[in-house]
Amino acid sequence: MTEVGGIDSRSSFTRNVETLFVRWRRHFGWVQVAMFGVFLVVIGLPILLPDPPAESGILSNPTHFLSYLLWGIWFPLVFLSVIVLGRLWCGTLCPMGAASELANKYGLQRAIPGWIKWEGTPALSFIIMTLYGQTLGVRDHPEAAAGLFGGTMLLAIAIGGLYGRNKRVWCRHLCPIGRVLGLYSRLGAVQFTPKARLSGGDAYTERGACPTMIDLPRKCESRHCIECFRCVNPKAAGSIRLEMRRPGAEVEEIRDHRANPAEAWFLFLDTGVALGGFLWLVLPQYQAMRQGLGVWAIQNHVDWITRIGPSWLMSVHPARAETFLWLDFIMIVGFMLGTMAVLTAVLACLTAVGTMIARRLGADGSFGQVFTELGYQYAPVALMSLIIGLGAELLMPLRYTFVGMEGVHVIRGGLFLIGVVWSIWLGDRILRRQGLAPSRRWLPLVPGIAGSLFVGFGWWPAIFGL
Ligand code: SF4
Ligand code: SF4
Repeated sequence: MTEVGGIDSRSSFTRNVETLFVRWRRHFGWVQVAMFGVFLVVIGLPILLPDPPAESGILSNPTHFLSYLLWGIWFPLVFLSVIVLGRLWCGTLCPMGAASELANKYGLQRAIPGWIKWEGTPALSFIIMTLYGQTLGVRDHPEAAAGLFGGTMLLAIAIGGLYGRNKRVWCRHLCPIGRVLGLYSRLGAVQFTPKARLSGGDAYTERGACPTMIDLPRKCESRHCIECFRCVNPKAAGSIRLEMRRPGAEVEEIRDHRANPAEAWFLFLDTGVALGGFLWLVLPQYQAMRQGLGVWAIQNHVDWITRIGPSWLMSVHPARAETFLWLDFIMIVGFMLGTMAVLTAVLACLTAVGTMIARRLGADGSFGQVFTELGYQYAPVALMSLIIGLGAELLMPLRYTFVGMEGVHVIRGGLFLIGVVWSIWLGDRILRRQGLAPSRRWLPLVPGIAGSLFVGFGWWPAIFGL
C-alpha cells in the first residue's frame, strides 16, 4: 500500500501513466479492432500466397515476413513484456480476448460449468495446444497456423457466447497463452492494488466489474489481472490503483500473494512440454528412436503405424516434402509428454528435497505450503528458456550484422544467466519469508540451483547450438 493518511505516495510517473490509460481506456476497443485486422492478415494472408521460393528471406518474401512477425516478434516479445508490463497485451491489444468478451455481451450468458472452473483446465489447454501445434507443424505451414489460431479464436468466441455474464471466461479459465502470461506476470513490474484492501485474500467472484472474476477489494495477486484499467478510478477512495514494483517482488513474497499448488505444478509441466516441443526437432536421438519404432512396427506387422495420418491432426504437405505418418504423430506426442514427465519429476523431486531440508532447518509452514512456494523459484529460468528456445527467431537477423552467430549465442547465454541468477535470488527470498536465517538458507537453495541448471541443460541446444 502506498497511500498513507490519504496522501498518494506513488511517483508522478506512475500517476501519469494511470491517468493516461484511464483517459484512453474507452478507446481500447478500437485498438483491439485494429489488432483483429492484423490478426487476419498475419494468419490469413499467407495461405492465399504462393509458397516462397527456396532462396527468399523475411525481407524479400511476404510469407516469410509474416511468419517472422508471428514467431520472431510477437511470440517472444509478448512473453518478454510481462516482466515490465505484466499482462498489458491481454487488456489492451489481444483481439481474441476482446472478441470473446464481445460475444459474451450478446451471448447466452449461461452459468460457468464446474469443468471450466477446475484449476487444471488451463494447464490441460496449454499442453493440448502445444502438442497439437507441433503435430500440425504450426511454425512451418501457414495452413496449420491459420487452422490452429483461427480455431482457437472461434473457440474463444464460442465460450464467450455461451458462458458468464459480461465476463471473459475464456481468458480466466481456458486460454492457453493467458495462463502462461498470468504465471509470469507475477514477476512483472506493475500491479493493480486496492487502495483499501479487505482481509481474506484473493477471491473469485462473478459479481463486480472485473472481467476475469477477481474480487477487487481483496485482490492480492497479479496472475488473473489483464490490466484492462476498468476498476481504476483515481477519484474513488475504494478503487484499485496502478502501482510499480521491483520485478519479482510478488514471487519473493509469494506467501502473501496466494501461492497456488496447481500453478506451481503448471510451471513444471509447461516448461517440460515446451522443452519437448523444441528438442524433438533438433535431437539426433529423437530420429534414432523414431527409426527404432518404425523398424519394430514393420517387423511386427503393425501396419497402420506407417500409414499417412489425417491432415486435420498432423502435417500432411507432400508438395513441401513433409508428410507425417501415424509413427510421427505417436513419436512427437510421446516424446513431448515423456520430456514433460521427466522434467516435472526432476523439478518436483529437487523441490521436495529443498522443502525437507528447509523445514528441518526451521522453515515454517506445512510440507505442501513450503513445496508450493519453493516451486515458484523456477519462474525466471523457465521464462528465459521459453523465450530463448521457442522465440529463437527474434535474434536470428542479428546473424547478418556485426553481432554474428557468436554474438547471438552470447546474448542467449546472457539471458539464460539472468534467469538462473534471478531464480536463485527468488529462492533465497522465498526461504527468508519462510523464516530461515541467512546462514540456514544456502543448503535448501542447493536443490533449487540444481533444478535451474537442469532446465538450462535441457535448453542447451537452443542457447548454444548442439
Ligand atoms: S487471456 Fe488469452 S485470449 Fe485473453 S486476452 Fe490474454 S492472450 Fe488474449
Ligand atoms: S483487476 Fe481491474 S485491471 Fe485487473 S482485470 Fe480486473 S478490472 Fe481489469
